[in-house]
Amino acid sequence: MRDSLLPWHQSGGGPPFLVGGASAFLRSSSYSNYYQARNGQAPRLFVVHSTRSGADLTDDQERIGTLNWFQNNPYQVSAHYVGDATGGLTPVVPLVYAAGHAGFHNSYSVGVELTQPLPDTPYTQGHYEAAALAFDLTNHWLALMGASPIPPRHVFSGLERGVIGHDETEQGRASGKSDPGEPWQWDYFLSLLK
Ligand SMILES: [Zn+2]
Repeated sequence: MRDSLLPWHQSGGGPPFLVGGASAFLRSSSYSNYYQARNGQAPRLFVVHSTRSGADLTDDQERIGTLNWFQNNPYQVSAHYVGDATGGLTPVVPLVYAAGHAGFHNSYSVGVELTQPLPDTPYTQGHYEAAALAFDLTNHWLALMGASPIPPRHVFSGLERGVIGHDETEQGRASGKSDPGEPWQWDYFLSLLK
């Protein structure tokens, strides 16, 4: 298992994406500066994160702060999507690239970050719908690429195919991650996945 990173690329801007008919919606894109090649690996793992700035911020402040952080931070962290409390989903890193969200799991995973300023901030219906939309978009893209979909099942190892919390991955456990944490209702989330 590779755990070193290739050099990260600088990105340009990108066009906004719009999806109709869903209760969750895509905000205009805000690409991160931190992404890398997948080395031919189709994503097989969908990782749920929460942002946790640690400050008592509004949801909108947390969203904007996260997008700014993904543009420019000393750790080169990023995620494919940021989902917020209103159901908004912001594409950040194109799925064809790996994002910097789960260490050695990056090359074969997709990461969604949900706005949660503090570890006990409850998730909203919008967060669940935004995360489900991110999962759906991932599988639509995999189908277009002729790759197998990520199964809508909860797994407890980043080496399996499915959906996992950052705190449940090998990398997350090794680095003491606790997101998305106790407030995240897995049964409800899984019920939204196709
Ligand atoms: Zn995380």
